[in-house]
Amino acid sequence: MKAAVFTDIETLEIQEKDIPRAEPGQAVVKIERCGICGSDLHGYGHGTMYGVFYSPGVVMGHECSGVVAEVGEGVEDINVGDRVVIQPNGPCQTCDACLAGKSSLCANLISYVIGLTPAYDGAFAEYALVPKAAQMLLKLPDNVSFEEGALVEPLAVSLHGVRQSRFKPGDSTLVLGAGPIGLGVIQFLKLGGAGRIIVLEVSPERSALAREMGADVILNPQQDGEDAMMMEFHDLTGGLGVDVVYECVGVPWSFQNALNFMKPGGQVMILGVTMDPTPIDPAMFILKETEMKGCFGSTPLEFKMTLDLLAQKKINTRLLVTETIALEDIQEKGFQRLLKKKDAIKIMVKP
Ligand SMILES: [Zn+2]
Ligand SMILES: [Zn+2]
Repeated sequence: MKAAVFTDIETLEIQEKDIPRAEPGQAVVKIERCGICGSDLHGYGHGTMYGVFYSPGVVMGHECSGVVAEVGEGVEDINVGDRVVIQPNGPCQTCDACLAGKSSLCANLISYVIGLTPAYDGAFAEYALVPKAAQMLLKLPDNVSFEEGALVEPLAVSLHGVRQSRFKPGDSTLVLGAGPIGLGVIQFLKLGGAGRIIVLEVSPERSALAREMGADVILNPQQDGEDAMMMEFHDLTGGLGVDVVYECVGVPWSFQNALNFMKPGGQVMILGVTMDPTPIDPAMFILKETEMKGCFGSTPLEFKMTLDLLAQKKINTRLLVTETIALEDIQEKGFQRLLKKKDAIKIMVKP
């Protein structure tokens, strides 16, 4: 089978690999769609993250759906031919965090994760091995397409960010960045009855989508100038700021300014990943009694909730996918395009 192997910074090579075989408890999935994630892009552009993720030799790809091609011994309720979405991590369900229902903090999370470490290759390949089939495979309802299935993972990350926050119906909110994660956050805030959703975004394409998905106001610091944008924000919020800020960009400016946009006593949720050490103003923490909280991945429950919401057609996915490309084009039409231009939202690979 063909697989896109991450061999060096900004280099993916299409290589021939053996089709994986399922050991007891495992399954092999023929991949139909796999989305390129912002984290994949970070790994591709900068190399290894957190010391363990995206080391050379890994096949990336963790936002994926497909058809079960082989089932190992002892796997019940999953059969060859089933249409499935892969939940890319299999929390251990025995550590303290898992027992407390906080499996996004599982102490053993990296033991069973696909597409991030060389232990289990991801889905930028024709087939992927799923190490814990019963736990990591969810059947796709008939009315959920493979494309929608591959969007469950990033949407579940957005859902996790909203559910982890103190957001309540009627609250004023600010979403920094309308990329794939920010657009998901906007939709879940809308579903949850947000009072006002302000979005800060510089790309005209992404701004248009944000509006379509429920944003009430779009601010553009590049177009309007930072001072004018701040004035407008000031007017919109009566000079106070918003109840909850969702940082979905992952650049130092956004991380630092999130505090300035927050109402005193409000909350800042960090969903974007920046690898650069970033100074923030400690006095702001005191004066505004700031709560700043990081969000990592999602829980199996949120994954299932997202799939249910997709089956109920409560989430707009049609506009999230910018283009579907072949595996052979992953380097130029996929990663390089996402790295150099900010016009695309999600690019899907169809191996
Ligand atoms: Zn992802
Ligand atoms: Zn655990």
